[in-house]
Amino acid sequence: MKQDWRGILIRRLLLLIGACLLLGLITGEYAWALVAGLSAYLYWNLRQLLRLHHWLQRSGPDELPPESSGVWGEVFDAIYHLQKRNQRARGRLQAVIDRVQESTAALKDAVIMLDRQGNLEWWNRAAGTLLGLKRKQDGGQPITNLVRHPRFKEYFEQENYREPLELPSPVNDHVRLQFQLTLYGNGEHLMLVRDVTRVHQLEQMRKDFVANVSHELRTPLTVITGYLETLLDNVDEVNPRWRRALQQMQQQGSRMQNLLNDLLLLARLEAADYPADNKPVAVDLLLLSIRNDAQALSGTRNHRISLDADATVKLKGSETELRSAFSNLVFNAVKYSPDGGEIRIRWWADAAGAHLSVQDSGIGIEARHLPRLTERFYRVDASRSINTGGTGLGLAIVKHVLIHHRGQLQIDSVIGKGSTFSCHFPPAQVVRR
Ligand code: ADP
Repeated sequence: MKQDWRGILIRRLLLLIGACLLLGLITGEYAWALVAGLSAYLYWNLRQLLRLHHWLQRSGPDELPPESSGVWGEVFDAIYHLQKRNQRARGRLQAVIDRVQESTAALKDAVIMLDRQGNLEWWNRAAGTLLGLKRKQDGGQPITNLVRHPRFKEYFEQENYREPLELPSPVNDHVRLQFQLTLYGNGEHLMLVRDVTRVHQLEQMRKDFVANVSHELRTPLTVITGYLETLLDNVDEVNPRWRRALQQMQQQGSRMQNLLNDLLLLARLEAADYPADNKPVAVDLLLLSIRNDAQALSGTRNHRISLDADATVKLKGSETELRSAFSNLVFNAVKYSPDGGEIRIRWWADAAGAHLSVQDSGIGIEARHLPRLTERFYRVDASRSINTGGTGLGLAIVKHVLIHHRGQLQIDSVIGKGSTFSCHFPPAQVVRR
């Protein structure tokens, strides 16, 4: 039951004053009696306060409060219960933290918490094994000092963590790690690191297999197409019934050669993170020669191909790789535009970097195909591509060349109106004369 302590205290004080006055009446010393009474009361209150202070300062968590009566007893009990409640809540929170720490410690994947600047705050046991982090020395260190790969620095600084990053482990070159960063809270980073060595090896085996098969097929195919060519060179001596068959065999042979060349090029592109070269490439001249090739490819189909390129803007990278990528885009524009169609090639730079756009007035592509267009052998319409003689690998090559040059591909298309393929390169890749 809740007591009215205010009333009780006033009544007690009045009683004390009454007693003092009675003592004064008996002794004839009212003032002294009052002083003595009130001093005794004050002394008692101060003593209780000191006992409280002593208990709060020195007592262990389970020690009972000192015995006391009246309002002081109630204050002691209330504080004691409050402490007990806090202890229980703390215990529950600690149990949760222990469980989280135990479970993350048991994880095979590394979990690392970084602050806004990327300094290490906390990590689990696996982070020690995978990245070689040491609890004593490394706390508070910037993660980019501990994972020193330039790709990681770039990835960390770009702050676009949609795709994970794969790199060799800083402690063991044979271990392949996948890094995935997420921003949380107040701009802090949560980093998950997985060992993907096995998946990487399988992927590597698949790539090696494709590259080896393509390589092995090249020689027999060269021999076959060589003989076909010789036969067709002496077409008058060939039985007329075989002429058409030979022509078709030669066509399909060169199609296979293109396919093998593209597969080998893709294998080479995939094998490295960086372009084969890192010299400033005069993109305007490169585009001029591609434009001339495209005009030749168009032949009697009479496409109108315009080129508007800023000669002062050069791009750091490999000319051969960029030629493959840009010519794929321009040749596609020719292949997928009707006769006499208009194609516009532009190359320019601004604050966001350098940009190439290849705009055609062709058949266009439905929006649902756009996200899958750069997959190998992905075709919007299989029969149509076979007619154009494409390998289905062109845009996959474009994607890989752009990854090498830190670029991004953007595809905008309206069915029946045409498509625009744009490549955006960051300012770090651009050299201005
Ligand atoms: P392909 O060798 O078949 O042209 P790509 O990888 O170069 O292979 O292109 C993939 C598919 O994207 C093509 O089959 C085609 O359907 C579509 N495509 C590419 N460029 C264009 C374009 N400029 N206009 C319309 N469709 C295009």
